Amino acid sequence: MSGCLKHLKTLFKDARIIDGTGAPEYYGDVLLSEGVIVAVEQNIAATSAGEIINAAGLTLAPGFIDVHSHSDLSILAAPEAFGKISQGVTTEIIGNCGLSPFPLTDLNRGHLQELWGHYQIDLTWNSCSGYLREVERRQPAVNIFPLVGHNTLRAAVIGYDTPRPATTSELAAMQQLLAASIADGAIGLSFGLPYVPGKFADQNELAMLRMALPGRDHPCSFHLRSEGNSLENALAEAFNSAKQSNQHKVHISHLKTSGEANWHKLDRVFGLIKQAQQCDGLCVTADRYPYVESMTQLSMILPEPYCDLDDSSLDRQLRDNHHFEAVVAALAQLLPGRWENIRLVSGAPHRQTLFGKTFDHIAAITGQPPHLTCAEILRESTLSARAAFHGMSEANMKQIIQAPFTVCGSDESALPAHYSFGRGHPRGFGSFPRFIRGLSESGMSLEQIIYKLTGQSAAIFNLPRRGTIKPGNWADLVLFEPDIFLDQADFKSPHQPAVGINQVWVNGKHLYSL
Ligand SMILES: [Zn+2]
Ligand SMILES: [Zn+2]
Repeated sequence: MSGCLKHLKTLFKDARIIDGTGAPEYYGDVLLSEGVIVAVEQNIAATSAGEIINAAGLTLAPGFIDVHSHSDLSILAAPEAFGKISQGVTTEIIGNCGLSPFPLTDLNRGHLQELWGHYQIDLTWNSCSGYLREVERRQPAVNIFPLVGHNTLRAAVIGYDTPRPATTSELAAMQQLLAASIADGAIGLSFGLPYVPGKFADQNELAMLRMALPGRDHPCSFHLRSEGNSLENALAEAFNSAKQSNQHKVHISHLKTSGEANWHKLDRVFGLIKQAQQCDGLCVTADRYPYVESMTQLSMILPEPYCDLDDSSLDRQLRDNHHFEAVVAALAQLLPGRWENIRLVSGAPHRQTLFGKTFDHIAAITGQPPHLTCAEILRESTLSARAAFHGMSEANMKQIIQAPFTVCGSDESALPAHYSFGRGHPRGFGSFPRFIRGLSESGMSLEQIIYKLTGQSAAIFNLPRRGTIKPGNWADLVLFEPDIFLDQADFKSPHQPAVGINQVWVNGKHLYSL
């Protein structure tokens, strides 16, 4: 028996250890057995292990936690999670921005099947446990912890085409499905309030849903209703719904001040967050990807009434010439300068040569006005048409990632090196090295930076036995070289892996080497 256990043990020798708590670095050995860290000491005898990793000259940290992932379906289609593990990520929080792959009913299954059609996975499950069984069956490289997405939850009960707050009985049905998902293993709730159908909810609906969560400590992520012109009101809505429900956690997704006219609001935003923490007793945190271009559905640029349609309905409407002409006319009203800030990331396959280019560049190539090409791209494939929007301030981004309440969230799916499942934003392959580099340049210690990526993230999302290197914790570890850890991905080649990661271990299993 002891011989067998000895064979399973792995020993990291002479590592520079940054343990994820924020404590000063130290040099030592770490012993793993059966997926768990069993000893962290100055000198562990080599005879106690079956496998020895010479970690001299390398830094050993807890695996990074991506608190804002959209790997809901990509983790089933490409469980090796290449884009994430290659930058040292060992755990992902999915179900963000109101969009989760459960609960499914006849009212939302078809829509989500269409949205995620390119992954070629049949959405055969109904519940969170059914989904998690599918995840487990594929043995993904990274740990997956899901949030319940409000948009999916709402659509499961009243569909996508219900532009009004939910009724009492509808709320009760949503609360029941939410509670069942939490009982199944979901760790919290997420909102995506600019999107259909979450945008139809009022503050009371948000609060009533949070009241269905047992205890008062469940994480709740908010993609705020506005990230620019009405940012302060949107923050107030998130804080007030938490107070109304007596839940104390408010996690703001991809915190930003969107649009140049709103860049000056950052001090005010920080002030409101501080006030909510100090006066209201809320635990306010945020995530951010270290880029100044966001990415979402191209359809998000459309004005009313088209912005109130889900993408499947819009797709159908655009096949009708009357609606298509109306969309062309609406897009023609956008300010001319806007097009140089919108970059096409994906669309119908025959548009491939335009991917990664801004619409003013595309206009020069196609010789037709950008609004017309944009409308055509939407008509060809509303669901796959995605764009990056340049509307954020670099200086604000730096201040946001430095804030003590901010952790790293890529806002991207774990994607393979190829583009069969669509092209991602470079953040899917480069967020973590960029986050570390940006903070190092600001003078923050590596211990503090690693804490943000690991121990702090695990604490915000209540992930037990993850995020720090200590005996008894799961052996999620990254062995890397911080000085050369660098992102390689850009909009031209968004799936380039980072350099500087030496090896990654998840639950004691060696899963990646450069
Ligand atoms: Zn979002
Ligand atoms: Zn997101």
